[in-house]
Amino acid sequence: MIKELHQKLSNKELKAKDLAEKHLDKIEKRKEVNAFLEVYRREALEEAQKADKKISEGKEIGLLEGLPCALKDNLCVKGRRATAGSKILENYISPYDAFVVGKTRQAGAVLLGKTNLDEFAMGSSTENSAYGPTKNPLDETRVPGGSSGGSAAAVADGQAVWALGSDTGGSIRQPASFCSVVGLKPTYGRVSRSGLIAMASSYDQIGPITQSVEDAAIVLDAICGKDDKDNTTVSKETGFYKNLSSQLGGKKIGIPKEFMEEDFDAEIKEMIERQAEQAKKQGAEIVEISLPNVKYSLAVYYLMMPSEVSSNLARFDGVKYGYSEALKKNSKSKDIMDVYFNSRKEGFGEEVKRRIILGTYALSAGYKDAYYKKAQMVRELIKQDFRKAFEEVDLILGPTTPTPPFKIGEKTADPLEMYLADIFTVPVNIAMLPAVSMNGGWIEKEGKKLPLGMQLIGKWWGEQELLNAALAFEKNESANK
Ligand code: GLN
Repeated sequence: MIKELHQKLSNKELKAKDLAEKHLDKIEKRKEVNAFLEVYRREALEEAQKADKKISEGKEIGLLEGLPCALKDNLCVKGRRATAGSKILENYISPYDAFVVGKTRQAGAVLLGKTNLDEFAMGSSTENSAYGPTKNPLDETRVPGGSSGGSAAAVADGQAVWALGSDTGGSIRQPASFCSVVGLKPTYGRVSRSGLIAMASSYDQIGPITQSVEDAAIVLDAICGKDDKDNTTVSKETGFYKNLSSQLGGKKIGIPKEFMEEDFDAEIKEMIERQAEQAKKQGAEIVEISLPNVKYSLAVYYLMMPSEVSSNLARFDGVKYGYSEALKKNSKSKDIMDVYFNSRKEGFGEEVKRRIILGTYALSAGYKDAYYKKAQMVRELIKQDFRKAFEEVDLILGPTTPTPPFKIGEKTADPLEMYLADIFTVPVNIAMLPAVSMNGGWIEKEGKKLPLGMQLIGKWWGEQELLNAALAFEKNESANK
């Protein structure tokens, strides 16, 4: 997709301005999907015209130059609102560009605007946004997944060529699965988190949501790399696109038996088996592996993540950032404590408050070692399971989600039910591994075709091998019935 559009721009068959206009019109026409929270129409057209000028002067352009993209609204763009889907940040203007936004600009991409998300990226359906839910463009009665639901819906609906999301426990891969697009969560430390509004810092990672595996490689090349502002980043060889070549032959792929023993939709199980069969035909060896401690993943995640959330969100105090109850005409605040309490009470939504309370409790004196520290130790055991598995196999295959996209409102009443949507994605964040979600098949429900996502997990820093295998699966359309 990106390569084809790039060629058309370079050959002057297409103007970047027309391409930007087409996407801006689509955003406007498809407002009911609610994929975007803010659109930068004027600036987008200006950026597109810059690319057109360069082309008309006979200059070479980069692969992403002149192509319209979307950013999840927890990424900072200088001089623009960054709400993170929360009322508490409704008036917050970023004073600087996130590292990835700077990289995106350097690549000459056209920033269309900001996409909707679950408040502070907490959720699996984008229903936790203070700005209304996003709809799944494939079936508007269903959720697009979350928390990067706006980004996934925008790409799936042709409102953006590509988008960035963030993934703390599945928020790139799960919406990619629900919207039938490609979502890549890189190895922790591959992409700088500077300028990403933090959720759980030891889990958060930014990554691409695209229409193809090739596009994911191109975008990852553009956004990854060392950044002095995030000391978990590293300098590593890149060139994922340049070195991309479809490869499954000779690869050993493990399917975790603990994944397949979970109680989840039979159609999804069958889809994984069908994909495994096809991989065998392409020369891969499929083996069953065991990750005995992954069963503790949700327990570990729902202790560590809220703890980190409670610490990261302490800064939203009604003084320095965004919403302040004290500025209301009929403010009830009499002193500074009132300002804190009232601003947080009115500014945060239910799910965010639930996690702050859980996390504050888990970190409180006397409990910290019993909860956070213990969870951290189990996190290490889960990592060890993966380390052992990767001594035997090159890649791990499994489902992205236990169900196809669910109905809007179906899981909002029961937070635990919602948390289970991430049962297959969370272990990857716990172990800090890279993984890609892509379409693996379809199921028909109520006369609509719904996508089923498959997940490929790679070794630490193994994005190249991961993308090469994903490309082979993608080419294998016969398996995607
Ligand atoms: N759905 C998960 C949660 O609610 C993951 C969120 C994410 O990856 N940002 O925490």
